[in-house]
Amino acid sequence: MRLIDNFIDGSWQSPDSSKRAPNINPADTRETIAEAPLSTSVDVAEAVKAAERAFPGWRATPAPKRGHLLYRVQRKMEERRNELAEALTREEGKTVTESHGEVQRAINVVEFFAAESRRINGETIPSEFPNNFCYTVREPVGPLALITPWNFPVAIPMWKLAPAIAYGNTVVLKPASLTPLSAALIAEIFNECDTPAGVLNIVYGSGRNVGEPLVAHPSIKGVSFTGSNDVGASLYGTGAARGIKCQCEMGGKNPIIVLEDADLELAVNSAVQGAYGSTGQRCTATSRAVVVESIADAFVERVEERVNALVVGNGLEPETDMGPSVDKQQLETVLDFINIGQKEGAQLITGGKLLATEMHKHGFFIEPSLFDHVTSDMRIAQEEIFGPVLSVLRVPDTATALSVANDVRYGLTASIYTRDISKALTFTDKLQVGIVHVNSPTVGGEAHIPFGGMKATGVGTREMGREAIAFFTELKVVYWDYTGSNRKGNLY
Ligand code: NAP
Repeated sequence: MRLIDNFIDGSWQSPDSSKRAPNINPADTRETIAEAPLSTSVDVAEAVKAAERAFPGWRATPAPKRGHLLYRVQRKMEERRNELAEALTREEGKTVTESHGEVQRAINVVEFFAAESRRINGETIPSEFPNNFCYTVREPVGPLALITPWNFPVAIPMWKLAPAIAYGNTVVLKPASLTPLSAALIAEIFNECDTPAGVLNIVYGSGRNVGEPLVAHPSIKGVSFTGSNDVGASLYGTGAARGIKCQCEMGGKNPIIVLEDADLELAVNSAVQGAYGSTGQRCTATSRAVVVESIADAFVERVEERVNALVVGNGLEPETDMGPSVDKQQLETVLDFINIGQKEGAQLITGGKLLATEMHKHGFFIEPSLFDHVTSDMRIAQEEIFGPVLSVLRVPDTATALSVANDVRYGLTASIYTRDISKALTFTDKLQVGIVHVNSPTVGGEAHIPFGGMKATGVGTREMGREAIAFFTELKVVYWDYTGSNRKGNLY
């Protein structure tokens, strides 16, 4: 078992309080993987002070040199990828294949932003005044707070850290309490890559005792948050009251829409991959299948067959298709929604029960579940379950499919399955989501492509890709009268 400390000002530091929380393997709760600090606002203040001290030096470091740090981190991550993937599976539960995918995505992100450090460009804009040279520059924001969830404990911290650092900010990361080990390995990697002290700081502990004081700290100039809507909304309120930059990426209720002319096999594959991959614990998970009535029986039958064949178990075992829920609370949430769905009148086609065999009884395992005859007014069609549950909503025609797909508060991703180019383009135009997939699953994203949602899913600018520069830099405009002559006419 590993004892994790906070990482502040370039060194491992014991927390102010001696209290620690165990990091339990969700596939086998007899295993305590690590113990992480339950820090307080005293530790937060130390970390912010370190980030503040380091900021002027890091801001002044030539951007391509900042990029060199990220290239070193990329290489180190490649060397340690197996260790990262195994730790991720042991603390989060996803299969080791999924963990390798996540680690690769994080590596890609680091590589992308290392190169972006050479492209922190502004623009020149002809002024309407004579002899005026006008241009824009991108500047770092300052010490930033990064607050991340447990479901992608390597990739999400990295897709915030890498742009923050490339663009010249210093950071305090508060990782999710359920997955401290991934964050500790990230800190170790940055430390091994000669990161200047104070550029990256990590403080472990609860949202209340670490997250809240971090966002409220007067020296923090921006917050990038990924997590649930309740926490995001309150944090956005705090950020807005302080007048600092705030970016929140939150929940999803992503539909796959299957029209009459769809390649059914492709749509079924996509639904199974999107709904049950990572145990449904992805913001981009497919949680609704909006299917035109004429093909719904065939769709449900094939999905059921595939769901019943999924092997549920410890993600470290090569034959496992689906791991456990991340903890008892998440497992109970899934079970609650299974009950709610049945009470609301939806038909449970398969799944819905806890798994208690010899290999499952020490973990948070539940059967992958499929509901049919779900209607849009049901809670299982509206609320984020964050578990392996797919709801099929039958619709009479294409127009209803579109309105049902949009009939949720969230707007992260959607997939449309059709061979009709006109229908595909109509859906890409009308779907109220940040990411549309045509004939591909709702899940996934690439390092160099913007990521994020509309409606209640996201506030603030998008993450990743070149769009990340909007959040992680301030834009400054310079007007320069190079003859020193007084401007004539109105100054507005
Ligand atoms: P969460 O409970 O909101 O927690 C997210 C982070 O916020 C954790 O580090 C948490 O700390 C911290 N936190 C909790 N209360 C806080 C407070 N009052 N002030 C400041 N920080 C606080 O979310 P989660 O359960 O970890 O993650 C699942 C959610 O994330 C789902 O809704 C999912 O859809 C969403 N998600 C969205 C995206 C996206 O890009 N749209 C990507 C991945 C996940 P503790 O861990 O200590 O509670």
